Amino acid sequence: MITINENFLKLQAGYLFPEIGRRVSAFAKDNPSADIIKLGIGDVTEPLVPSILEAMHKAVDDQANADTFKGYGPERGYSFLIDAIVEHEFKARGVDISPDEVFVSDGSKCDTGNVQEIFGRDNVVAVTDPVYPVYVDTNVMAGRTGDAAKDGRYEGLVYLPCTAENDFTPDLPDTSVDMIYLCYPNNPTGTVATKETLKKWVDYARENRALILFDAAYEAFISDDDIPHSIYEIDGAKEVAIEFRSYSKVIGFTGVRCGYIVVPKELKAYKSDGSAVEVNAIWNRRHSTKFNGASYVSQVGAAAYYTGQGRLEVKKVIDLYMANASYMIESLKEMGYEVYGGVNAPYVWLKTKDGMTSWELFDKFLNEAHVVGTPGSGFGASGEGYFRLSAFNNLARVKEAMERIAKL
Ligand SMILES: *Cc1c(COP(=O)(O)O)cnc(C)c1O
Repeated sequence: MITINENFLKLQAGYLFPEIGRRVSAFAKDNPSADIIKLGIGDVTEPLVPSILEAMHKAVDDQANADTFKGYGPERGYSFLIDAIVEHEFKARGVDISPDEVFVSDGSKCDTGNVQEIFGRDNVVAVTDPVYPVYVDTNVMAGRTGDAAKDGRYEGLVYLPCTAENDFTPDLPDTSVDMIYLCYPNNPTGTVATKETLKKWVDYARENRALILFDAAYEAFISDDDIPHSIYEIDGAKEVAIEFRSYSKVIGFTGVRCGYIVVPKELKAYKSDGSAVEVNAIWNRRHSTKFNGASYVSQVGAAAYYTGQGRLEVKKVIDLYMANASYMIESLKEMGYEVYGGVNAPYVWLKTKDGMTSWELFDKFLNEAHVVGTPGSGFGASGEGYFRLSAFNNLARVKEAMERIAKL
């Protein structure tokens, strides 16, 4: 008899985006002439920049010729990309990462989801609340939690609330935890972590022999000079942290797919007898057993970002998204909303007015302004009373959306 992994049955139905989709379709069906503006999902809207496209076209042509054809590449990624990452993402910020600490992948959803499988099942997991759901659900699948309670929180997980009251900076847990997921700049709140905040977590992890899983998918959106782009800008972080990077939001690769994970050689995990093992070697074994490398064309495209021209073109696109964010912040403040994020991240996180729930505001914006956002409660219990607007759209649409909301 084939049995099922019952941990999968603990998962709650993917509630948030299907429910948004359902409400938007129902509204569109009843109001076929309504011009709906979507500021909901976290997907880029601008096309790829010319220098990256050109490099990718050439890479496709390489496949047309036996002399330049590429079959399986190195599982860990081509050195032309890894060397560029080491140089431009880390060395340029004073961080010393060696090429064999970088593993190129097809994106951070997979990496953040897969990484947990090399760690013991008994590890206690801490996540911020609100949170990117992948961190939670993959640990549920692995059996590191009990069942979900009514508020959606899983038994056995440690939730670290991030609200306006604590300036979206989670307190250290009061119980001992082993795996800590941090995402900065943050999705969904759009807030950032200072060096001091990250140092607090690195110190905690070193004292407790814990691991930090640092998701830096939005680092390229940072505009404040003193906000760290990498957790390795903090002394000692290489002993306790894995970092995830993705090209999805940075160079518009949500459809092309490429990212990487950094697993430092200094990072140790422990056997039940207390002896230490090198995590890099274990991840290398896991990665090269289960993954055959990101596509050559994707990696060539990603590497083109690190040419001067690539960077310049990409910065223009990021500036365009961030102009949308600052327009939204100004408009919403004028309307009397409390607004957070949106300065170093492409998300604006606003507090609902008059004690409205997140879903009540969602329905009001949809039905009366024909604007779609994302209810904060969909990202966790502490997101209740908040609402996320994404900057991934064009300025004319964003202006139109703000005008309509202002009229409510
Ligand atoms: C979009 C996003 C990612 C990137 O996922 P990919 O699989 O690389 O497209 C990772 N983490 C967070 C928090 C995100 O919002």
